[in-house]
Order: sequence, then structure tokens, then C-alpha cells
Amino acid sequence: MSKILTGLEPTEYEHDLDKAALNTLERIPGLPKLTKKFYELGFEKLIRIEYTGQYLAINKNNFPKVFNLYLQACKILDFKDIPELYIKFDYSVNAMASGVEKPMIMLHSGAIDLLDDDELLFILGHELGHIKSGHVLYQMLGSMLVPLVSKGVQQFTLGLGGLVTEGISLPLYHWIRMAEFTCDRAGLLCCQKKEAALGVFMKWAGVPIKYQTKDFEKEFINQAIRFQEQDYDSMDKFVKGISQTYSVDYLMQLGQLVPVSHPWTLLRVKKLLEWVDLGKYEEILNAIRCSNCGYQNTIESKFCANCGTSIK
Ligand SMILES: [Zn+2]
Ligand SMILES: [Zn+2]
Repeated sequence: MSKILTGLEPTEYEHDLDKAALNTLERIPGLPKLTKKFYELGFEKLIRIEYTGQYLAINKNNFPKVFNLYLQACKILDFKDIPELYIKFDYSVNAMASGVEKPMIMLHSGAIDLLDDDELLFILGHELGHIKSGHVLYQMLGSMLVPLVSKGVQQFTLGLGGLVTEGISLPLYHWIRMAEFTCDRAGLLCCQKKEAALGVFMKWAGVPIKYQTKDFEKEFINQAIRFQEQDYDSMDKFVKGISQTYSVDYLMQLGQLVPVSHPWTLLRVKKLLEWVDLGKYEEILNAIRCSNCGYQNTIESKFCANCGTSIK
């Protein structure tokens, strides 16, 4: 039985690299102007129209199993308001959070078919993590507004002129990648099974559906642990910078430098396992949380020091 993490605050698990990158990003003078433009242009409405007009809204009547799993994810991570959930036909194992004022989650049909329940909880928890940490606004700047402006198409310069330069987009995409480390932790806190989190990463990395991920787990963890030392650290500064920022895959396929939205899968695994090994995950899971107010009490407490509810 999963633990309900009442009162869970994102600050309990946010990654230091996420916080540092956000700090740098928020000191860039052009950011507030870009944010203001996002609201002025009604991007929020645009997304809502697309979701409601294009994808399947999930509820307890049409997809009871998926919806109940989703409610469970929301409960574990202590969501009072349940963001709307949609399915999109897409066979990549993925999901996405969007909407700033009214958050929504879009789950790919591939994730539903190719993941088991615990793995699905990981991916739902990851997306809920983006909402919980308030990542969605800047993510949407990166996925919608910046590409539109930097295309330089006249009708889309949106009066922002030269604002969207490398000066803002590099730190923005860097933060977008670093925020993923935080949400992988949220995903694990939601599914509460290391093997489920690893199962999702293994499928992302390429384990075909005909195979059982557990047969590859040991090798996969070894690859993650070895990753930085042998390959990454030996790169020169230029290659390191490029490979971290842009997708080499896209460069080969399209001849374009497209910013990558996620850190390398094996690096994500490495970072997540480091956090688990430090005991931080267990610490959050085992904290004595009051089921009424979420206050963290001590192991000796019989009643919540904040609200007086009895602690079982
Ligand atoms: Zn994410
Ligand atoms: Zn309490």
C-alpha cells in the first residue's frame, strides 16, 4: 500500500540543479516581458481549446481504471484540486503537463498500453510534480512562445523584437532540463517503487515491449553509474556544451540545432539513484505526517503538534 504524503511540499524534494538554474533564469531582465506576453496572447486559452477539441477527456466513466490510478497519484502527492486528464494518440511512452491557471495533464495512449500500473504512477507523478512545483509557465514559454518568436516570422515577432536571443533561451532550456530531475523524484515518490521508475527509464532508453525490463535492470543501473565518468567527463568544452544543449539526433536528421527538453535518460537515472542512495527518498516517505494537516511530527508524537489529530 502506497503512503499518502499529506502536506508534501515540493521544497522537500526539489533538485539543487533545478533551483540553481531557476535562480539564474529569473535574474534575466527579459523574462518578465516574455511572461507578460504569454498571458496577453492568450496561450492558456489556445492550449485549452486544443485539448478540449482534439483529445479524449478521461473521467471515471470512460476510463475508470486509468482515472482511478490518476486519482491515487493525486492523493499520494497531496493535490487538493485534480488537474484535468486527457489522452492523446501517440505511441511514445510519454505525458505532458500544461495550463498555468487551470493545469491539465495529457497522457499518451502509448504510455497506457506499454506501462504497467506502477510505471504509469511514476509518469503521472512526474507530470503532477511539474504542476506542484509551478514549472508549467516557463515550460510553456520554452515550448511555445520562444520557438514562435525565434522563427522570426514577421507576424509572430509579437513585438518582442530581439528579446529572444541565446541570452534568454539558453538559460530557459537549461532550467527546463534541470527541472526534470525534480520531477523524476516526484514520480518515484508517487509510485514508491524503484523498479517501476527504472522500468519507465528503460523503456525510454529502448527496451522493446517483447522484453521484460527487470531482466535488464542490473546492466542498466551499471550503465547509468558508469555514464558520466567514462564518456561525459572526457569530452572537450565545446562538445560538452553542444551535446548538453542540443539534440545530436535532430542535428543528424534535420541539420538543425534543436534544444533538447530533457537530460539524457541515463543521467536522469543516475541522479535519481544518487538521491535514493543518500536516503532522502526514504526520509520523505517515512516522515510522520499528520493525515489531517500534513504537519511533520516526531516518531514519539501521539497527537499532531499542529492540529491535535491523533497519529496512528
Ligand atoms: Zn517532465
Ligand atoms: Zn495535524
